[in-house]
Amino acid sequence: MVFRITFLGTGGGRHTAMYQTRSTGGMLVEHGDGKHLHIDPGPGAVTQMKKIHYDLTLTDSLIVSHAHPDHYSDAETVIEGITRGGWEKRGHLYGSPSVINGEGKLGPCISKYHQGVIKNITVIRPGDVLDIDGLKTEVSKTTHSDPTNVGFRFDTGNGIVSYVSDTGYSDEIAHLYEGSRVLILPVTTPDDVRIPYHLCAKDAIPFINIVRPELAVFIHLGILMIRRDPNKQALEAEKNTGIRTIAARDLDILDVGKNISIAAAETYDDEWIPDSSP
Ligand SMILES: [Zn+2]
Ligand SMILES: [Zn+2]
Repeated sequence: MVFRITFLGTGGGRHTAMYQTRSTGGMLVEHGDGKHLHIDPGPGAVTQMKKIHYDLTLTDSLIVSHAHPDHYSDAETVIEGITRGGWEKRGHLYGSPSVINGEGKLGPCISKYHQGVIKNITVIRPGDVLDIDGLKTEVSKTTHSDPTNVGFRFDTGNGIVSYVSDTGYSDEIAHLYEGSRVLILPVTTPDDVRIPYHLCAKDAIPFINIVRPELAVFIHLGILMIRRDPNKQALEAEKNTGIRTIAARDLDILDVGKNISIAAAETYDDEWIPDSSP
């Protein structure tokens, strides 16, 4: 049983997405006996996959947590990969109500065509328990400007790995992730720079203290955060909590087995054409 996350992008927020100072490509998860799940493929996801020679036709399922472009803009291309160019009815799309149907001024984020070619679509809400190609996944609420946004607890077989998704801080939200072995936190801003509905580095401290994971990982780094050194911000959280805390880098691979390890992926800079291509 493998559970491996490749951080296609560790950036987040509209300015990091606009400038691609860091990629905003979300996460690619390999799990079980070689299933592949994409989470929140924002701008950069597809170009990052080419850099690691990942063939998008291997993807089985896709999660889009909410209707902000740093989480969904590459999702339709991912669906074209899943469906092998739109020719094979396969795969499963999981999305919040805003992503799939639209809600107020938000979304829908996936065109009717792409919703038509993927085999299964599930609208997800807090409290749902999903079976994503054998991966038990619990869906939890957030406090975000897309009120339908959700976070996730993945039951990997080697403990719970959680992806909190964009949220403001509250003790209540933090308690939802108790029991996590790895806590992946979107820490958009540094120090105590608070913007509504997002976490700053200072919020990460009580969050980590409530959850007490083995490892906390900062992602979704905004421009100010990148300016103020994400490694230093993570170290500050580690000093205050005693919990190992790191800021992920683009194309880091996190392996969660008996042990937890993180290392840079091998990258290529060439005109790659995968074998599955016409
Ligand atoms: Zn975001
Ligand atoms: Zn958002």
